[in-house]
Amino acid sequence: MARWKKPAPEAVRTTFGGLRKLHPDAHCELDHATPFQLLVATVLSAQTTDVAVNKLTPALFKKYPTAEKLAKASPEDVQEILSSIGMFRQKTKNVLGLAKLLVEKHEGQVPRTLDELVDLPGVGRKTANVVLGVAFGAPEGVVVDTHVMRIAQRLGWTKNTDAESIEKDLCALLPRNDWDAVSHTLIFHGRRICFARKPECDDCGVRALCPSAGNAENVGRKPPRARRL
Ligand code: SF4
Repeated sequence: MARWKKPAPEAVRTTFGGLRKLHPDAHCELDHATPFQLLVATVLSAQTTDVAVNKLTPALFKKYPTAEKLAKASPEDVQEILSSIGMFRQKTKNVLGLAKLLVEKHEGQVPRTLDELVDLPGVGRKTANVVLGVAFGAPEGVVVDTHVMRIAQRLGWTKNTDAESIEKDLCALLPRNDWDAVSHTLIFHGRRICFARKPECDDCGVRALCPSAGNAENVGRKPPRARRL
């Protein structure tokens, strides 16, 4: 990224428009019926695939569909339901703790501000913005995961390497209305075409607009092999 040049917002919007056409179905893939269930599913998805979370949440939400019900659950029972995913003991503590706090402080409802959300156990800025964007259509930032990070770098939208700075860059380049969609779209692009290793530049619909086309394997964050899921 040594010769990185700040992109014009119009160029970014054109490329983003192309990506949206490639992935019109981009959306949050965590199954949920309510903001509370989305919050719990997102907390459970840390370091775990959405597919793995979607396998266990039907049983969890059937038994504990609301914050009130989950707040009264026994830790042993919840731990048993979550036992197929990584860090399930810590995640049990987090979801029970957040359910109790929602009941105590928010009448069992999910708050609608980032500051209130990040006060809940297991909830960081990324999780909070998933909930604000998907459940309420009002994110206070862009969710930057490993796909968003890598593709923003490859498209030349950022020269930064940390999530916080990349989020600031994306927020400056795109209007607030696009903050939720940009995450889902880049995540879908990363899962389908712009892979960390062996990205399919030849078949990519925004190839003509991408400064890394044909050289993408040398650009953008790659997860360590051992951590790939
Ligand atoms: S051209 Fe290659 S690097 Fe650029 S967005 Fe497409 S797949 Fe990714």
